[in-house]
Amino acid sequence: MKKNLLALSAFLLLFHFSFGQLEGAIKFAKSINQDDLKRHLIIYSSDEFEGRDTGSEGQRKAVEYLREQYKAIGVEAGDPDKDYFQPMTLNFSPRRGEPAKDVKTENVISIIKGKEIPDEYIVITSHLDHVGVDNGQIYNGADDDGSGTVAMLEIAEAFKLAEMEGNGPRRSVVFLHVTGEEKGLLGSRYYTDKDPIYPLENTVVNLNMDMIGRIDPTRVAKNRDYIYLIGTDHDSQELHDVSEESNKKTLNMTLDYRFNDVNDPNRFYYRSDHYNFAKNGIPVIFYFSGTHEDYHQPTDTVDKIEFDLLEMRTQLIFYTAWNIANRENRLSLNNEEDNNSSYKHSEEELKSFEGIYVSETFPLDFKLFLLDNKLCWVPVGGSDEQSLMLDEIGEGKFESKITGLELEFRLKEIKNEIKTVSQRGTVVKKFSKFDKKMILTISGNKINFERKED
Ligand SMILES: [Zn+2]
Repeated sequence: MKKNLLALSAFLLLFHFSFGQLEGAIKFAKSINQDDLKRHLIIYSSDEFEGRDTGSEGQRKAVEYLREQYKAIGVEAGDPDKDYFQPMTLNFSPRRGEPAKDVKTENVISIIKGKEIPDEYIVITSHLDHVGVDNGQIYNGADDDGSGTVAMLEIAEAFKLAEMEGNGPRRSVVFLHVTGEEKGLLGSRYYTDKDPIYPLENTVVNLNMDMIGRIDPTRVAKNRDYIYLIGTDHDSQELHDVSEESNKKTLNMTLDYRFNDVNDPNRFYYRSDHYNFAKNGIPVIFYFSGTHEDYHQPTDTVDKIEFDLLEMRTQLIFYTAWNIANRENRLSLNNEEDNNSSYKHSEEELKSFEGIYVSETFPLDFKLFLLDNKLCWVPVGGSDEQSLMLDEIGEGKFESKITGLELEFRLKEIKNEIKTVSQRGTVVKKFSKFDKKMILTISGNKINFERKED
């Protein structure tokens, strides 16, 4: 009896504490409004920015616009030299079938430093690029991802207003607009793999938004006030719970988990920038309102955005970020054994899979090579940037989760095994050479490849 009472009062205390925390956010959430979102998006998705193709003149105008907005609201630069830009050179083929080339571009980054735990980071992302101009038609990308971009500007402003009233976040909040998403998540990959300005091990969560301004025509339930959430419970059940709580105690909209499955055939979990954080074990939430007939069409324009919904969804993300940033403890991770059933080959073994593979029944040849001790896979002629890093799932077995393909090397051991034998005569290490067959499984189809002779 006593024990139950104690548990009950602890629960009430916790309830009160966390509600109080969100209650403090309401006033600032109100600064996120349709009018401001619309004002930004009319400019951001205008013809002047020419569809924001990575490295283009139109994209340069877009990043300049973002920088000016952060300066105007007084949110400081997040990069070391304090100009809001994280410059990089990416290598990709500008159009299908054209050779890869080097392109200069940049992420845009700003930060509101935490007042109590500044070394822990909430990283909020959306992609600043889109697909540019094709056949004289501008792809404005109002939803993809103008919607997420302007939402971030409004979230930053709300945190800044709170900070100016002495109510700044306990942990740091980073606003990272990434480039090169449409070329293969390249700007976010640059940040996580090459130059994480803030250490990944101190990154508590990544909240990513990509297309949050429309209504999915295929959604069965027809209430408008919904958002799809993906990834919430994948690495941290606590993140899922905090996200649910942040919604229930404020907007109480529908959080729809229709696509929250890493095996969903649409593979949304792997298709936007949060994936580069998730692959590093960082808990993520991907916010998304679904695809539509204007997806990657010149008709993805600002007049089709549901601004009342964009406002509501942006406020939800602000509340969630606020809740995570101000909690007593950092979000806890699920047990690692639950997530990764990984297998580890030796470096020698991995090296033995390198080479060029050809097939009689498939038009492309593939190169397999080692990069950072990971086996990578790329069509012959593609650049390293376009390669896919393969995960090891068993002896001679690999997969690429992004594309859903699996590779299996049929290892027929040949006779000259290399053995290291101890003095007592027992084998302590055995390494066998392999023959040269690879079986590629994609969408259930198996294709046989042979390795070309060197
Ligand atoms: Zn997108």
